[in-house]
Amino acid sequence: MKPASLIASLAAFFCATPASADDVAFVEANILSIFYHELGHALIDTENLPIFGREEDAADIFSIFFIDATFKEDAASAVAADAALGFRAEARENGGDVAWWGLHSADQQRFYTTVCVFYGANPAERGHLIKQFNLPEERVESCPSEYDQANHSWGHVLDVLGIDEPSDTLVYSGDRGDDASLTEQIIAEEVDFLNEYYALSHTVTVSIEDCDEANAFYEPEDRTIIMCSEFEDYLFELAEKR
Ligand SMILES: [Zn+2]
Repeated sequence: MKPASLIASLAAFFCATPASADDVAFVEANILSIFYHELGHALIDTENLPIFGREEDAADIFSIFFIDATFKEDAASAVAADAALGFRAEARENGGDVAWWGLHSADQQRFYTTVCVFYGANPAERGHLIKQFNLPEERVESCPSEYDQANHSWGHVLDVLGIDEPSDTLVYSGDRGDDASLTEQIIAEEVDFLNEYYALSHTVTVSIEDCDEANAFYEPEDRTIIMCSEFEDYLFELAEKR
């Protein structure tokens, strides 16, 4: 179980910049949730997992499931809320122009599903999220069973991958030095954390690259998660719309 130390320490460090602490927390949370989404794709590949439905939905579920499973309550709630708001901000950014043909669920659906699964993991302590995010009662009813389904699938996968001794199956290829970007600092720490508790069946490289777009990818051909360096600035812009 991860404490909020990463979030708190990075927020404190970056408070010196013009961005507000809330904006930095939003950006950090979304970098994490996007990275976990890509990690979901990576696990589907390395563990040869069967997917009954759309892979993008499975990766979204992994991301919010892992946030719930990894962070302590307060930090988990903060990261989950900002991750959900990231989808809502994307929807606002697109101004109702929904890519119905897309691989991903629509941003508003991703927003509600993120809230629902996270709420469903601990309804006793997370009822405030229902009001905060206006999740309709018709959906609220199914959230605990949606979480149970996520736990039955992804929880089982994490149980199998859990280890007692640190592994090195995730390889971080980016900068760790004083000049490291916020993305690089977060992802470097995440890779260390994941290697401490999990071992994948195949090595996966994690790199931070300039992509000419604000995006992230998992490339199965060379088993690499690519976090585009452009995402960070885009998320700071998106923070205004959340
Ligand atoms: Zn994806």
